[in-house]
Amino acid sequence: MKVPLLDLKGQYSNIREEVRRVIDEVCDSQYFILGPKVETFEKNTAGYCGARHAVGVSSGTDALLIALMALDIKPGDAVITTPYSFFATVGSIVRAGATPVFADIDPVTFNIDPVKVREIIRNPPQRFKKLKIKAMIPVHLYGQAADMDPLMDIAKEYGLKVIEDAAQAIGSEYPSKKGTVRAGAIGDMGCFSFFPSKNLGGFGDGGLVTTNNQSLAEKLVKLRNHGSHPKYYHSLIGGNFRLDALQAAVLNVKLKYLESWHESRRTNAGRYDAALKGSHISTPKAVYAGRGIRNYHIYNQYVVRVKDRDDLINRMRAADIGCEIYYPVPLHLQECFKHFGYREGDFPESEKAARETLALSIYPELTSEMQEYVVKTLKGC
Ligand SMILES: *Cc1c(COP(=O)(O)O)cnc(C)c1O
Repeated sequence: MKVPLLDLKGQYSNIREEVRRVIDEVCDSQYFILGPKVETFEKNTAGYCGARHAVGVSSGTDALLIALMALDIKPGDAVITTPYSFFATVGSIVRAGATPVFADIDPVTFNIDPVKVREIIRNPPQRFKKLKIKAMIPVHLYGQAADMDPLMDIAKEYGLKVIEDAAQAIGSEYPSKKGTVRAGAIGDMGCFSFFPSKNLGGFGDGGLVTTNNQSLAEKLVKLRNHGSHPKYYHSLIGGNFRLDALQAAVLNVKLKYLESWHESRRTNAGRYDAALKGSHISTPKAVYAGRGIRNYHIYNQYVVRVKDRDDLINRMRAADIGCEIYYPVPLHLQECFKHFGYREGDFPESEKAARETLALSIYPELTSEMQEYVVKTLKGC
């Protein structure tokens, strides 16, 4: 049996006719950039995320960059974030000219640890003492929300803006003390990606920024189109960060199915949880499960911890089973960030996660037979 890490063909065959119809609509209209399809999608996603505004952009990476631009983050500023995420989280901070100041993760959730954030604000490394800490980017890694209540408390106390990196967490819910809230509607802005492998994936690149703040929304709309409004009058320097109509049309169709796909991913996660219980493989913990919320986790990735990872990967390869390491190198140790002066040992939990984690197939169309085969191979029997 062959088990790919992700196979989108099954999903496509279920919605093929519907998707091809809306693609035809766009082709017939010859309206390709922004426009009515994008506006409808923005309205739908804002509603889905429980945010007042949503601004479609060209990718998740650009969503992060434009959010930082909207806050006027610049050289001399510092942004607090996690060293354990996809590169874009930190790449965007550095592209905005700012310095990433890391706080280590909670080993249970892989998300930034609020206790460590407070420590780093109180006592930043000597070389960062002249910088002004302006913002924080928590990441809702693998589809489970970071612990936002304490993070928002810290942000309020120190006057920091909060950008949620919700690229892996569209629809993911957090049981806040004010009630259940969705990723992207908690901080000042939320950034989403529609890279094809995300739970809501387009037919190419795409992204979105959500916000409850009207003036930020207006600024984002300007910035994604070279800072112009009206046309050819530029009050800001933005860029070409526009979402195209074909992506919006496809995503509008897919959004209707997103809740059921989340549900299937959770079912698959439950099967792995049960089958791997008591084994040497440590399964991910859904810390908000049983708190009366549905999307306590949306499992963009199902990530286990193992001690003998190399052996295991070899066994999986030999058995034709896809798996992947997210992420093998923590961001503070990336070569391109060497000049920030971080060293091995600075963030032990992130470094340990980078050595031990392995993502297994979890996509909605994965069959129980395929899962059994994965489990058998993992257990080595
Ligand atoms: C995918 C991802 C991004 C970047 O999104 P793109 O659409 O690929 O640019 C940013 N942050 C995280 C955590 C991601 O998983």
